Formats: sequence, C-alpha cells, structure tokens
Amino acid sequence: MTTHLVWLRNDLRINDNTALTAACRDSKAKVLALFIATPQQWQQHDMAPKQAAFIHQNLCLLQETLAERGIQLHYHQCADFSASVDHLAEFCQQHQVDALYYNYQYEINERERDAAAEKRLDAQGVICQGFDDSLLLPPGSVQTGSNTMFKVFTPFSRAFVRRLHQGLPECHHAPKARAEAPLSAGKKIPAFDYPMEQIDASLFPAGEEAALKQLRHFGKQSVQHYPDVRDLPALDGTSRLSPYLAIGVLSPRQCLHRILKEHPDALNEGKSFTWLNELIWREFYRHLMVAFPALCKHQPFIDWTHNVEWQKNAAHLNAWQQGKTGYPIVDAAMRQLNHLGWMHNRLRMITASFLVKDLLIDWHDGERYFMQQLIDGDLAANNGGWQWAASTGTDAAPYFRIFNPTTQGERFDKQGEFIRQWLPELAAVPDSDIHQPHVWAQKNNKKLDYPAPIVEHKDARKKTLDAFERARGAA
Ligand SMILES: Cc1cc2nc3c(=O)[nH]c(=O)nc-3n(C[C@H](O)[C@H](O)[C@H](O)COP(=O)(O)OP(=O)(O)OC[C@H]3O[C@@H](n4cnc5c(N)ncnc54)[C@H](O)[C@@H]3O)c2cc1C
Repeated sequence: MTTHLVWLRNDLRINDNTALTAACRDSKAKVLALFIATPQQWQQHDMAPKQAAFIHQNLCLLQETLAERGIQLHYHQCADFSASVDHLAEFCQQHQVDALYYNYQYEINERERDAAAEKRLDAQGVICQGFDDSLLLPPGSVQTGSNTMFKVFTPFSRAFVRRLHQGLPECHHAPKARAEAPLSAGKKIPAFDYPMEQIDASLFPAGEEAALKQLRHFGKQSVQHYPDVRDLPALDGTSRLSPYLAIGVLSPRQCLHRILKEHPDALNEGKSFTWLNELIWREFYRHLMVAFPALCKHQPFIDWTHNVEWQKNAAHLNAWQQGKTGYPIVDAAMRQLNHLGWMHNRLRMITASFLVKDLLIDWHDGERYFMQQLIDGDLAANNGGWQWAASTGTDAAPYFRIFNPTTQGERFDKQGEFIRQWLPELAAVPDSDIHQPHVWAQKNNKKLDYPAPIVEHKDARKKTLDAFERARGAA
C-alpha cells in the first residue's frame, strides 16, 4: 500500500485544503498528517502567545476531524525549521512514506526550509508535491504589461479582478472518509513549549465550523453594510476572520465563493466588492513579498527612508504599548490589542501612524510589537500595513500625510463609544470632551487617572516632516 503524508503548517483545515485533497485523491493510499511545532523559530518570528494558543486549539480540533476521516495526525515538537526537516525525513523513513504533500508558505525562512526538505526527501526517494493554496491567485500570476509585479494597489486589484473573471479558483470539498475511518484521535497534542495566552472564545471560537459559521453570517448579514461601517471601531462591522485566514483555518477561496453565492455580482464593484477588495489587499502584500523578498527581512521599500533619524525614547514606546499616551483613540486601540490580540483596521492605521509620525519612533519597533500581540499576525500583511503607515512602503501614505489622532478619534468614534469600552477611567468625561479629556479636566478642575498627551501633535508633526525631509535630502 502506498503511503501519503500531508505536512500541515498554516493550513489547519480539512475543507478546501489543496495538499490534503491531492493526498487523498488515491482512495487506496494510506494518508497520514504531520504537524511540527518549532518554538525557537516562532520566537524568532515574534509569534504572539495568543496566536500560538489559537494554533494549538485549532490543531487539537483538526486532529479529531482528521481521525473521523481515517487520517491520523502526528505531532512533533523541535527547536526550529532546520530540526523540523530532520524530523520530517526520519518520519518518512519510519512510516515508509512514498509521497509528501504540502501547501507553500511564501516567507523566506519557510521557503528555505521547504527547499531543504525537498532535497532531503528526494534523496530518500520520496516524491514531494507543493501547492499554491493560501492565496486566491498564486504569486507572480498577476503582473503588469511588462511582466513585473505591480507596485500600486489599484491597478493590481483591477488586473486581479480581470483574472478572476477569466476563471475562479476552485474550492475543494473536504476529503471523504477513508476505508480506515474512523480512527481514534490518538495521543492528545500537548501544550507547545511556547508561551500561550488565553483567547476570548466568544470572539474567536476555534475550529473550521466556527470560522465557516462566521463567514456565512458575515456574507448574509453584514457584507452589504461593510463600506458604511468598516471604519467605525465601536461597531461589529468587519468580518473578524483574520485570525482564521492567518493560520489557514479558512481559505480565501472559501471567502470568495461564499460572498459570490450570496451576492453573485460582487466582482462587479458594488458594496460586497469593497470587502473582496480587502482580500485583494491581502493578496497584494503576499505577492509583493515574493517579488521583493527583502520585505521579509523588514527592509523598507523606499530606500531613502533608511536615513530617517528615529528617536529612541523607551518611555514613549512604553506609553504607546501600554495605551497611556494621553490620546484616547490611540490608547483605547492599544488596550484592545493587548487584551484581545486583535485590533480594528482603522485603529491599526491610527496607532501605527501615531508611533511613527507623532513619536518619530522606528516603525520596526511597532511592527514587532504588533506581531508579538496579534492573534492574526501575518508577516506580509503586518509589514505591508506598517510600511504603509510609515510611508516607507510601495503605494504607502505619502510621508507628509500625517493623521491627527484627535480628529481621527472625532471622525471615527464621535461619541467615544469605543473609547469608553477600553478606558473606564474616562467614564466621567462628557461625550463632547472625550477626545481631549485633559482639557476638560483642567477647565473643570477635575482630577483624572489618565495622562495628559505625551507629545503635542502640532510640534510632533513638524518634527517628523523635518526628519523625513532631511532623510530625503540626504539621499
Ligand atoms: C499597521 C497594520 C498592521 C496590520 N497587521 C496585520 C496582520 O498582522 N495580519 C492581518 O491579517 N492583517 C493585518 N493588517 C490588516 C488589517 O488591519 C486586518 O486584516 C483586519 O483588521 C482584520 O480584521 P477583519 O478580519 O475584521 O478584516 P475585514 O475588514 O473583514 O477584511 C477581510 C480580510 O481581508 C484581509 N485584509 C483586510 N485588510 C487588509 C489589509 N490592509 N492588508 C492585508 N489584508 C487585509 C484580512 O485577511 C481580513 O481578515 C494590518 C494593518 C495595519 C494598518
């Protein structure tokens, strides 16, 4: 009997899993699955303890669903990617694996690991098959007329949609139960030897079923309202599917097909298209990362921004991280991040802009801190978002566009509904003063357990503009 092995990484699902589908195609083959935890590598990649916990929860559920279908999920923990290749090779020998199936990851270290694995297994006579799976369209498949990667999002998105009109990527059903099914799930997967933090299960319940339920609900009830409410953090107006997409509990194809099922016209602009366009941003950053691998090494896209003289101010960085800057919208957002491991997109833009353009702190510090907290941490999206906010990226906000954190708060959280959720110390401040509580406290001779702004926006703005202009001049 031939034995097929599916090497699972960030594709923790049985539905629409390209490698798993391929491994199961031969109904007579024995199919095994393997997940290798690599805590030292995760530490180097700044994986958030909440994301580690979410991976663990989803892996445990996946072990059960695979066993119901007659596929045993094996688990191993080792230090890093290099050790994981050693284990994979041993595993294949021990279980007499004939063919390995896996879905590509596009980051540099991951690609190097996979190349090393293929070389090792090839020498052992194991056939290796890799698949594009985590994107709607593979990197390199959406290009300009001169066969280069787009550097600007809007034309990329238009070309992307044209490609989708030519043919939609197929969505695979979960594999049928194998002859051996059901198996007992096997040894319970132990906690990773990595810090793991509790997740709010009411917001992010683990498992494919939960993810699909959320997707169905969003597609039916919310996607048509998305353009109107997506920027209002007090409302539940976005899908909150990012944690599932980041570790592959859900695929972007499932998202696309679900939206098209509810709104067949969604690819032709309209309200549901606004949401699909966000999925295309996800694609854009991953395609960029493959075209420009230096992004994986956190290099800025715009070279002269290397010259910006960032301020090293540990107290300011700490105040930003802890949500104690004296700017309520920034502080509420950072506390949402610290508590949930998730932050609303508008707030990610505001807080990132504040760190870089008000505190003039190196965007790498923010990128790293986000990664260490986010349940949906994803190198390409996080790096793309930070480089956008810091004006160092391709198609980024121009350096002279600087958000005013007070007016951003007034615009997107007018009555301070969101702010009040996260800053209980401002409960006594009236709505009309919620964005400048220190002014209200001074005027009314009140004492607040909340800091005054750590920088004055107007002065900070000028300092930042000067720093960027000097850097550009030096280049
Ligand atoms: C500084 C900064 C850092 C970010 N870091 C991450 C990150 O580590 N991981 C991550 O998944 N997203 C990141 N984003 C993008 C975005 O903020 C989140 O994807 C979004 O807030 C997730 O919430 P949602 O699922 O409700 O999104 P929705 O608005 O419902 O969007 C649907 C999906 O589209 C994708 N998406 C949406 N916006 C973007 C975007 N701007 N770039 C790339 N993909 C997008 C996500 O997969 C998201 O789940 C970052 C943005 C910024 C500005």
